[in-house]
Amino acid sequence: MNLKKVGILLLTGMLFCTGCAERRDAMQKMVENKKMENRHEATTFAMDTIMTFTVIHEDGDEIIIDAEQEIRRLENILSITAENSDVSRLNAAAGKEAVSIEKDTQILLEAGKELGDIAKGTFDIAISPVVKAWGFTEEAHRVPQQAELDALLELTDPDAVILEEGRAFLQKEGMAVDLGGIAKGYTSDRVAELLKENGVESAIFSLGGNVYGIGKKPDGAQWEVALANPLDANDYCGLIAIENQAVVTSGGYQRYFEEDGKKYHHIIDPATGYPAESGLLSVTIISESGIEADVLSTALYVMGLEEGLAFWQEQGGFDAIFVTEAGEVVATEGVCFTFEGQDNDFTYRMVERK
Ligand code: ADP
Ligand code: MG
Repeated sequence: MNLKKVGILLLTGMLFCTGCAERRDAMQKMVENKKMENRHEATTFAMDTIMTFTVIHEDGDEIIIDAEQEIRRLENILSITAENSDVSRLNAAAGKEAVSIEKDTQILLEAGKELGDIAKGTFDIAISPVVKAWGFTEEAHRVPQQAELDALLELTDPDAVILEEGRAFLQKEGMAVDLGGIAKGYTSDRVAELLKENGVESAIFSLGGNVYGIGKKPDGAQWEVALANPLDANDYCGLIAIENQAVVTSGGYQRYFEEDGKKYHHIIDPATGYPAESGLLSVTIISESGIEADVLSTALYVMGLEEGLAFWQEQGGFDAIFVTEAGEVVATEGVCFTFEGQDNDFTYRMVERK
């Protein structure tokens, strides 16, 4: 079982009762309790990860079941390991022929190519052959030879992923796409949409650490998501307040193996074929778009702090929190972040927009 990112705690609504002797407060508590009755929670395992849901709605249980069904539908077409998924059929037909794909797969491949372009190739939808060589696809870890990596890097060009209406084609034999760095973000957007269509105005859910908060908590405050401490799974560095936003973290600490005393993690720098060594422990992206947050968390992790900040200055539309190997927590100015990491030797700095 893959427990990555479970370290991100969801701090859901805590109600405070002050001066309960007074009637006004008692009344308020009654109202709050009534709201609490509409809190529905569930945990499930899908897409190789743990998913948790908190939905504030009288039909919350049914709505969560609908959401789970949608997640399983997407898993069945997007999984790289399920035999008949769109992705598996596409990869199996690499260099041979175009295959028909669902609308969702089409949207994901298009978005992956486009966002990868914007991120100057640090996110690569076609990186799969290299990820596989490191053993992260089948959890059979190994350190590949340089010559092997060089050959595989010839097969990772996202421009060789050809999309036409309802069909996709990988131009070279040996090519493969891996939606591991984007599928959960896309799925979180779909789930948020489904919840809102069902009248949900307050909810928070986490698809293996891809968190999405709809509206506010029942007590009127914003939802809060803990920023994991990459050095200590039982600790956190601070709280991120969100409202109709996604929060996604990518970090080398989440999935890695060790060989000869060296750690190798699962986020690959497409320029080298090696796990990115950019001086970062994690990158967290806050955005209204789950898919964008997912892609950019991976991309900015590859970029590192300086390039990542420059990218944020250039692009906008999202915010980021970097945790560096040097012990800094660096947040862009739009994040509503309360730093609480001083006990673990982290220092904090906020960066303003130029
Ligand atoms: P998570 O493992 O939580 O999905 P990420 O969102 O950072 O973490 O995605 C990492 C996954 O994406 C890897 O497991 C791999 O499948 C794939 N991947 C690794 N490096 C890249 C990259 N540079 N571009 C696109 N996908 C990548
Ligand atoms: Mg990602």
